[in-house]
Amino acid sequence: MYKEFGIDEDLLKLAEETENDIKEEFKKIEKVCEYNSLKVLNAFRENNISEVHFNSTTGYGYGDIGRDTIEKVFAKVLGAEDSLVRGQFISGTHALTVTLFAMLRPGDCLLSISGKPYDTLDSVIGIEENKSSLKSYGIKYEQIDLINNNFDKEKIIERVKKKNVKLIDIQRSRGYSTRESIQLEKVEEIIKEIRKVNQEVIIMIDNCYCEFVGTKEPTEVGADIIVGSLIKNLGGGIAPNGAYVAGKKELIELTAERLTSPGQGKEVGPTLGINKQFLQGLFFAPSVVASSLKTAVFASRILEKLGYKPSPLYNEPRADIVQTIEFGNSEDLIKYCQGIQMGSPIDSNSIPEPWDMPGYTDKVIMAAGAFTSGSSIELSCDAPIREPYIAYMQGGLTYEYGKLGVLKAIQNMKKE
Ligand SMILES: *Cc1c(COP(=O)(O)O)cnc(C)c1O
Repeated sequence: MYKEFGIDEDLLKLAEETENDIKEEFKKIEKVCEYNSLKVLNAFRENNISEVHFNSTTGYGYGDIGRDTIEKVFAKVLGAEDSLVRGQFISGTHALTVTLFAMLRPGDCLLSISGKPYDTLDSVIGIEENKSSLKSYGIKYEQIDLINNNFDKEKIIERVKKKNVKLIDIQRSRGYSTRESIQLEKVEEIIKEIRKVNQEVIIMIDNCYCEFVGTKEPTEVGADIIVGSLIKNLGGGIAPNGAYVAGKKELIELTAERLTSPGQGKEVGPTLGINKQFLQGLFFAPSVVASSLKTAVFASRILEKLGYKPSPLYNEPRADIVQTIEFGNSEDLIKYCQGIQMGSPIDSNSIPEPWDMPGYTDKVIMAAGAFTSGSSIELSCDAPIREPYIAYMQGGLTYEYGKLGVLKAIQNMKKE
């Protein structure tokens, strides 16, 4: 069967050795998975989830008890006062956009303290000129870069002591940069420092790819508002679209009024049959995140053995599900991504090519043979075509499928 799938004996042997090396890491991942499963189950129990919550509304979506209860469940799981969990959010980028526009007013300053945010936010902020950007509304943007993967504490404190920083943005996952992902302890520490000198500023976290990787979320350590996509971690591979925002009640209200309209806020929003999928997705999320982490650890170790430069290394702590591999040349990078596509359940016969994607600056190659289009909690691999040719791989609904996809990708790269 491996032969039919196109994997050599040599590679299988290497996979076996790799799995031997990573046993301890798997045990740690399983512990976190059990803890987060308990969190989810407690939230379901506390809110007495039953079949009535799988209801569906159409039109304005008034009085949708499933939707309202799902938002309580998410809030509980994330340790937040309230949440907004909606299919009307098109993507993580959209949820971040709505949140930023909801918090900021002309003359305010948005300060990113984790360097340049995710590429798709360039046009939202106005780093890339756009007539609909925050900048076009007179909202300023400032940025403080990380130094050696740490917050530049002195600069940050000095800046937030002064006036008009309305919102601080922290992005935990690395996006398409070469920095490390940011551990929650570091987020907690900098929030404490900021609060010593400024109690007003809104601290927002882009939590994409980070949920359930550890046992706590940023809202449990002082963040005011967090945002993430449901075709990533918390959708558990079941949610067909959507995103969430969670945090302080008044901030969630503001966000809801920007997503729908002032005066209507959270009260409207038809669920169109999505409630059961959101609940089931959250239910699966701890173990799907664990499978993604195992896939990442496996890939990290086996590619390290093959002489490439993975980050994090297999035994380094992780803050997100993303595994990067530095290939050093575009050919291996492209072959690897194409191999991930070949090892996918959907569209395994398509060959992805680098293209000019809307919202991104460089050409990007995206391998995603997923049940849900663009879902990156399913095994997927993408890369901007620029030096030093780094692939960003993430997801894996089950470890077994994840491992098989990685093997197929390596085989494709090594074919010649
Ligand atoms: C994926 C991601 C986003 C954007 O989410 P989409 O759903 O792809 O729009 C934003 N920030 C980070 C860190 C991400 O990983």
